[in-house]
Amino acid sequence: MKIGILGLGLIGGSLGYDLRSQGHHVVGVSRKQTTCKTAVTLGSVDEANINLSLLADTEVVFICTPIGLIVPQMAQLIKHLSSNTIVTDVGSVKAPIVKAIAPTWENFIGGHPMAGTADSGIEAAQKNLFVDRPYVLTPDDTTPKRAITVVEEIVRSLGANIYYCQPEQHDRAVSWISHLPVMVSASLIATCLSETDPEVLQLAQNLASSGFRDTSRVGGGNPELGVMMAQYNRQALLSSLQQYRHQLDEIINLIEQENWTDLTAKLQSTQQARPNFVD
Ligand code: NAP
Repeated sequence: MKIGILGLGLIGGSLGYDLRSQGHHVVGVSRKQTTCKTAVTLGSVDEANINLSLLADTEVVFICTPIGLIVPQMAQLIKHLSSNTIVTDVGSVKAPIVKAIAPTWENFIGGHPMAGTADSGIEAAQKNLFVDRPYVLTPDDTTPKRAITVVEEIVRSLGANIYYCQPEQHDRAVSWISHLPVMVSASLIATCLSETDPEVLQLAQNLASSGFRDTSRVGGGNPELGVMMAQYNRQALLSSLQQYRHQLDEIINLIEQENWTDLTAKLQSTQQARPNFVD
C-alpha cells in the first residue's frame, strides 16, 4: 500500500519506520527540507519533500503535525487527494479536529496513539513505538466501513491495542490521564524550583532519583504539545485541574489537622486504584 505521512516528527517518523518494515511504500511531507532529507536518510520514509502534491496518489494519509496545524493542513491537502484516499490524524485532542474535518472529507477517521517520549522531531522517532500501546479511533455514524477497516488493519499491524469511542469521550478521558498529568508534573518541577536556599536546591537536584524521574517526566516534555493540549482541550482540562486542586486541598487539611487515619485511608485507596490505570 502507498501510505503518506504529513509531519515527520516523533510520531510521524516512528509510524514511517514501522509501516516501511511491513512492506508499505511510505512517502512523507514535512515543513523543512532538512527534515525530509533526514527522514529518508534514517530510513523512516522512502521519499519525502515539502510539497503536499507528493501525497496525491496515496491510499491512506496520516496527519502527524502539531495539533493546531492538523485542520489547516487538511484544508490544504484536500485539493491534492483523490476522494478514495483515507485520511486519519494522530492528534492528542479529538473533538475539535473531528468536528472540523469530518464534514469536509468523507473518508476521514480520527485517531490517537497513546505513545510518546519526552523528545520531539524526526531524530526522536523510534521503531516499534506503538507496540502494546492503546490506539484510539473515533469514527462516527457517517464514517465509511472501508475507511474504518483499512485504518484498523494498519493500526493493528503496528502492534497497538485499538479502542473505539466518541471524540468527546476521548477528550475527557485523556484529560484525566494525559493532559492533567502534564500540568501536574510541570507544577511539580516549578514548585521544587521555589526552594530559596541555593544549597538545598542543589542538594535536591543531586538527590532526585527514580521517583522524581517518574513524576517529572511528562512535565519536562515538549512545551508546544502541552500548550496545545490546554488550548484544544481547555474545558475538560480545567475541570480535571479543579478536581485536582480539590484533592490537594483535602490532603493539606488532613496534614494540617494531623489526621493520619484519614490520610492513610486516602493513600490506601489510591494504592488500590492505581492498577486499574496502569499494570
Ligand atoms: P513533533 O515531534 O514536533 O513532530 C511534528 C512535526 O511536524 C515536526 O517535526 C515538524 O517537522 C512537522 N511540521 C510542523 N509544521 C508543519 C507543517 N506546516 N507541515 C508539515 N509538517 C509540519 O511532534 P509529535 O510529538 O510527533 O506530535 C505530532 C502529533 O502527534 C501532534 O498532533 C500530537 O498531538 C500527536 N501526539 C503526540 C504524542 C507525543 O507524546 N509526543 C503522542 C501521541 C500523539 P519539521 O521539522 O519539518 O518542521
